[in-house]
Amino acid sequence: MQSHHITLDSSSSAAGSDGLEVKCNGMRARNSTLLCVPIMAETVDQMVIDMGEAKAVGADLVEIRLDCLKVFNHNQDLKRLVKECPLPTLFSYRPIWEGGQYDGDEKTRLDALRLAIELGADYIDVELQVAREFIDSINGKKPETLKVIVSSHNFQDTPSVEALGNLVARIQASGADIVKIATTSLDITDVARTFQITVHSQVPFIGLVLGERGLISRILSAKFGGYLTYGTLESGIVSAPTQPTVKDLLHLYNFRQIGPDTKVFGVISKPVSHSKSPKLYNEVFNSVGFNGVYAHLLVDDIAKFFQTYSCMDFAGFSVGIPHKEAAVKCCDEVDPVAKSIGAINCIIRRPTDGKLYGFNTDYVGAISAIEEGLKGSPNAGSVTGSPLAGRLFVVIGAGGASKALAYGAKQKGARILIANRTYDRARELADTVGGDAVSLADLGNIPPEDGMILANTTSIGMQPNVGDTPLSKHALKYYSLVFDAIYTPKMTRLLREAEECGVTIVSGLEMFIGQAYEQFEKFTGLPAPKKLFRKVMENHS
Ligand code: NAP
Repeated sequence: MQSHHITLDSSSSAAGSDGLEVKCNGMRARNSTLLCVPIMAETVDQMVIDMGEAKAVGADLVEIRLDCLKVFNHNQDLKRLVKECPLPTLFSYRPIWEGGQYDGDEKTRLDALRLAIELGADYIDVELQVAREFIDSINGKKPETLKVIVSSHNFQDTPSVEALGNLVARIQASGADIVKIATTSLDITDVARTFQITVHSQVPFIGLVLGERGLISRILSAKFGGYLTYGTLESGIVSAPTQPTVKDLLHLYNFRQIGPDTKVFGVISKPVSHSKSPKLYNEVFNSVGFNGVYAHLLVDDIAKFFQTYSCMDFAGFSVGIPHKEAAVKCCDEVDPVAKSIGAINCIIRRPTDGKLYGFNTDYVGAISAIEEGLKGSPNAGSVTGSPLAGRLFVVIGAGGASKALAYGAKQKGARILIANRTYDRARELADTVGGDAVSLADLGNIPPEDGMILANTTSIGMQPNVGDTPLSKHALKYYSLVFDAIYTPKMTRLLREAEECGVTIVSGLEMFIGQAYEQFEKFTGLPAPKKLFRKVMENHS
């Protein structure tokens, strides 16, 4: 796969450089990209209901997928669909050979599309393979307002920029008013090639990259000047894998507010879909009027990601599992604290020189929440120093978050014990921070002492495996406080069982909020609206 650096200057976009301030559904938008809902019901009655809902949720047009209808009476059904649709209509009748459901003869299929034109369709989508013949057949009869989208679908991969450019030229030559190319993402860097084509396209262009790794092709089409993007009515009802809902596009990603100058942020992780960071940052960006969008970025190879998305507009990133340690090598400069921890959870591209600067904000929120939780408990430590001083602080795990917690607790004067599935990694981390090590299997057998603290920094118990826990309940009663870095769910089995044993608990949500304040300030240069952060997180948890 091509992984070469790609220049993405969104301001050169043909569609994005003019008419940026357009009015969509009564709201001032920064882009002219349309939001289209695929209507894929099996009956005309249901299609009519779905079209009404599409308007209600804020879509600009609907794509009526005729191939989804179980019974289709061309004349009667098309008349009704055109007449009763409250939004502009895009008709497609996708054959099996292009990823659709229609398996009848071609004449019948194309006749239905020609009839839809006669009856007042606003857009027709035809496949490249039949486009020239179809466009010739409507020559002289094509209404002025009708736009023909000629589409090409590739369910294997995303070709090179050169191959995509050639494909655009072939589609254009077929007589298309709008070019649509859907490809498949094997890696998130594949999407950059589609962005490059979108930005430089002289003809209205719809570029989609299918799959979870291609999600940003849908969200950022508004930044790079795509003609339209697709959003579903409900999650799970999709015309293409991992399509976002219209509601998510409008309210989670603030789609109408995305424009050529919008800075791109995101959480780089694998898996990533559970992350609540997009909800949090987008809501806060919107509230403070900051021109940024924050996305889920399913990244397999972090070095390749930064080699590809090297332009200034890809401005800041949160880093999660499993990239926190590899991220250190991707940065031009690393904050001294992050360097000693050996892990990064935040990267910003410095606006002055484009260099990547890495930080670790993980431990700050967790340690202060644990200190807060210990206040007032027995053995609360000296009045002046930290309540962590002198206590045994047991860290389960030896990854990025573990290092941050162990380092933070050590700074506060705690004695560190690392317990990990892989003992050698526990030993290595214990030697680095100055502490002891034990295998996770032996943690239940350590001699108990007063005032011990337990911090889980593994993903054991995280959604969807919410029945798992790293330490059996009977061992929890020896601890003064139990912290869990996991925040989905907020109440893990570990925390629930600790609470049942009468132990003070601190949730990963506190760590999340604490590190998020710091990242927000680094991303935006603005002071973090702390009350708003807490409110947003509480609403979503
Ligand atoms: P990481 O670097 O990949 O570390 C994973 C650690 O977990 C390793 O020590 C690994 O043990 C251990 N582990 C994973 N699965 C295990 C299993 N099934 N059984 C036993 N041990 C297992 O991950 P990370 O980035 O540090 O993140 C760890 C957790 O912290 C995640 O749940 C993450 O969501 C959470 N976190 C929360 C926040 C927050 O703000 N609340 C921030 C950062 C991270 P081995 O060494 O044996 O492989």
